[in-house]
Amino acid sequence: MITLAKDQWSTFGRVVFIRCPECKEKARIDHSVDDFGNISPSVVCPFEGCDFHDYVRLEGWTQRTKNVGKIPGDVLAKIPKVKERLAASASGFVRVMKFSVPDRAALAVLIENGEVEIFDSALGRAYRLVGGRS
Ligand SMILES: [Zn+2]
Repeated sequence: MITLAKDQWSTFGRVVFIRCPECKEKARIDHSVDDFGNISPSVVCPFEGCDFHDYVRLEGWTQRTKNVGKIPGDVLAKIPKVKERLAASASGFVRVMKFSVPDRAALAVLIENGEVEIFDSALGRAYRLVGGRS
């Protein structure tokens, strides 16, 4: 297990980049990162000639790191409510015609984080939790 300092990794939207501790190249990783910054599964450096293969933890990682820019407080406050609404939906998805502006912004954050996906239902564009109970 190796810990990467805050200046050895970065994010762009949902995408995480790390600086390989061995060859120092910047690599995009498609792994998942838990709330504590632990990357799983283990990281294999994609660059030829580099043997790096280890479990990696991102120092300074928080859930909010995954978000782009700063999120206003009213939008942050809406995120759990929007998730609840999605989870509580009998059909497994919601449409957003009745969503307020902060609700829509919260939804956008969830989409950015990969927690909600957009799809086309028979009724038009709809949203559902990724990997949600069905
Ligand atoms: Zn490497």
